[in-house]
Amino acid sequence: MRNSLALHWQIMLGLILGIGFGVLSVQFGWAGFVKDWIKPWGTIFINCLKLIAVPLILVSLIKGVSDLKDLRKLSSMGIRTVGWYLLTTVTAIGTGLILVNLFKPGHFIHADMRETLLQSYGEGAATRIQSAQSTVAQGPLQPLIDIFPDNMMAAFTDNTKMLQSIFVAILLGIGLILIDQEKAKPVKTFFDSLNDLIMKVVDLIMLTAPLGAFALLASLIAEAPSFDLIRALLSYSGCVVLGLTILLTAFYPVLVRVFTNIGYKKFWKEMLPAQLVAFSTSSSAATLPVTMERVQEHLGVDEEVASFVLPIGATVNMDGTSLYQGIAAVFIAQAMGIHLGLSDQLGILLTATLASIGAAAVPGAGMIMLVIVLGAAGIPEAGLALIMAVDRPLDMMRTIANVTSDACVSILVASKLKKLKT
Ligand code: ASP
Repeated sequence: MRNSLALHWQIMLGLILGIGFGVLSVQFGWAGFVKDWIKPWGTIFINCLKLIAVPLILVSLIKGVSDLKDLRKLSSMGIRTVGWYLLTTVTAIGTGLILVNLFKPGHFIHADMRETLLQSYGEGAATRIQSAQSTVAQGPLQPLIDIFPDNMMAAFTDNTKMLQSIFVAILLGIGLILIDQEKAKPVKTFFDSLNDLIMKVVDLIMLTAPLGAFALLASLIAEAPSFDLIRALLSYSGCVVLGLTILLTAFYPVLVRVFTNIGYKKFWKEMLPAQLVAFSTSSSAATLPVTMERVQEHLGVDEEVASFVLPIGATVNMDGTSLYQGIAAVFIAQAMGIHLGLSDQLGILLTATLASIGAAAVPGAGMIMLVIVLGAAGIPEAGLALIMAVDRPLDMMRTIANVTSDACVSILVASKLKKLKT
């Protein structure tokens, strides 16, 4: 992507025009037109990103792992990656809990507004609760079992099973290290070329990002709920946005600055296209190809590290989601007059960490897993209805933090392993 500066401005323009068009369509009653003729372009953009995600994970991870040449390097990279991911997630939830206790947004919800929200969104909340319950009913080790596919090919055909593709790719990469290197060479060369090809396809798809961003934002605004409901939730939304802003403008850039010589401005500038795509699509999985391209080609992270750290991060490391879950759980409790003590909040810290790891990298997944956090803390799950009106815009913003955190950790791990070209 040669003209990256132009690209992020183009996406930004697409976003702004999309918001403008969405507002006009609400004013003039064009919602039907937007749904039939504009929204599909956004869906096509997301589909194009998703279609390349599994091949990208497979090819880059097989190549990345086999290039390590030594299994000790793989385990040291694995330990660092998991360590950083846990640290950033816990920091994110801690930040969220501090803010929600400081500002107490739940106390701004009056009883009549609470009833309106519970009534308007009760049905939607019930659907999420049902989805979450089927996850809980499966038994504690089911998430672990789900990483191991019984059919390799079936795993590659299901976007919701990215961890299975990651597992198979790591296994094949390790196999390539262990077999005779003469025999491994043609396979490695093949994956090397395929990797370049896939990265080029990502570049091509990104050329349509401004149009995709326009279509996604226009349809989102056209379908937005009434402004009265949104206004009632401003204090809660403000808390989430403030928390995400702290992570994005202070925590990640400072971590990167302290441990590498990538400056604040460079980190922001190079991450912006991925952040804008995350914002438009609300999906870390759909954004993964762009995140990979940004950190490898613009921030200097070696392919071996990026191909290992980022796909895993996209599926398990969700700081924005965990921060949101912490704030949302305490907000719902406050709005319903439930007192949460320190031990309850430490419980939320633990369950939100697990829930964010378990959340799929798709729009709205964080809210489904929030049901589990609420259940564990003894907060009525129906309280989910209180926050649904603003979930989509907050999802867009928390996805930015999710992908930025993955990129940040890939830089930190690469720097420690001397795999960062700056
Ligand atoms: N949309 C988020 C992501 O894909 C997950 C969530 O918080 O709902 O990263």
